[in-house]
Amino acid sequence: MHHIKKSDKLDNVCYDIRGPVLDHANRLEEEGLRILKLNIGNPAPFGLEAPDEIIHDVIHNLTKAQGYCHAKGIYSARKAVMQRCQLVGIPNVEIDDIFLGNGVSELIVMAMQALLNNGDEILVPAPDYPLWTAAVTLAGGKAVHYLCDEDNEWQPDINDIASKITPRTRGIVVINPNNPTGAVYGKTVLEQIVDLARKHDLIIYADEIYDRILYDDAVHVPMGTLATDVLCISFNGLSKTYRLAGFRSGWLVVSGAKHRARSYIQGIEMLASMRLCANVPAMYAIQTALGGYQSIGDLVAPGGRLYQQREKAWTLLNDIPGVSCVKPKAAMYLFPRLDPEVYPIEDDEQLVLDLLLEERILLVQGTAFNWPNPDHFRIVFLPREDDLEEAIARLARFLEKYRQN
Ligand code: PLP
Repeated sequence: MHHIKKSDKLDNVCYDIRGPVLDHANRLEEEGLRILKLNIGNPAPFGLEAPDEIIHDVIHNLTKAQGYCHAKGIYSARKAVMQRCQLVGIPNVEIDDIFLGNGVSELIVMAMQALLNNGDEILVPAPDYPLWTAAVTLAGGKAVHYLCDEDNEWQPDINDIASKITPRTRGIVVINPNNPTGAVYGKTVLEQIVDLARKHDLIIYADEIYDRILYDDAVHVPMGTLATDVLCISFNGLSKTYRLAGFRSGWLVVSGAKHRARSYIQGIEMLASMRLCANVPAMYAIQTALGGYQSIGDLVAPGGRLYQQREKAWTLLNDIPGVSCVKPKAAMYLFPRLDPEVYPIEDDEQLVLDLLLEERILLVQGTAFNWPNPDHFRIVFLPREDDLEEAIARLARFLEKYRQN
């Protein structure tokens, strides 16, 4: 009998945030052990729940949400996204330019499937949110990673980007604010990326799902406000700012040089139609979420839960010898560096597995974010301060042993 084998298309696709270490953690939990999970950016289970008003409006509309809707999503939600574009200054966005999806994840996969021929290249940041690399690879493309510079607050390295453009490069992915680094990009670097896109005829993919989770004096500049003469596809959704990751709801906005992309946009429309439509009940959350009072503001302001947890986690991590971490300006992650002279790590997945087995804490290794060296990890600062304190104390204890070995 032959083994039933997965397709060759999946050979180089990887998504290690939910990889073997997580399987291990799940098994330990099934055995009844308590694992401190600092591995996934899923706010609701940490008591960071969605605003009541949104849940109320979804329940109110539930009976209306029984049938399929337009392949691009319900009108009122798309209109709300369109108005949000007007408010932040993205010109020339019409209802037809907005696609709702089952989370940003589905829309990323669709945007890549509709574009890429085998061997086409997409520039993706390192470190990245690895779904981008996986989606490019699944679509037959090649993800070419450009560096973000830890010594420069994790801003994209423009020279590195420029040096990696080839005749096969079709687009560039910009994750701003960034997962996993928490960086918020300055206007100048964004303009330089637009200049490169214009010069080399690249599509810009702007993943802006953390655009309202900003700390201190951080200001987010939406890519669509700058990339007005190149094709720009922006992504956002309900999972983070509105703590509704389980609703699986996000949107994609096409702006800029739309007139040159008729065929590509038709391709996205075809894929949207093939899955009929996205989850309709969740679409009724979008208008309410985008309008009115923004409760995320309370969480990120000084004294707010997310702000305080970031302070706590960042301070405690930097107190560990040989660990240094750029302070995140946005989102819900820290991406600390382990000094290779102090911690000569060869396999960071093994490090994270050892940490799980010894201390029952789950983190994600830096190489899962396509970071080239085994000298980083990502930690989520969603748990309450006392849980973060406990987790980081256990991490410190673990690393002490690693140092001595
Ligand atoms: N983009 C980034 C940068 C993310 O961090 C995430 C989730 O962690 C997503 C997209 C996926 O979001 P969604 O829940 O909308 O699929």
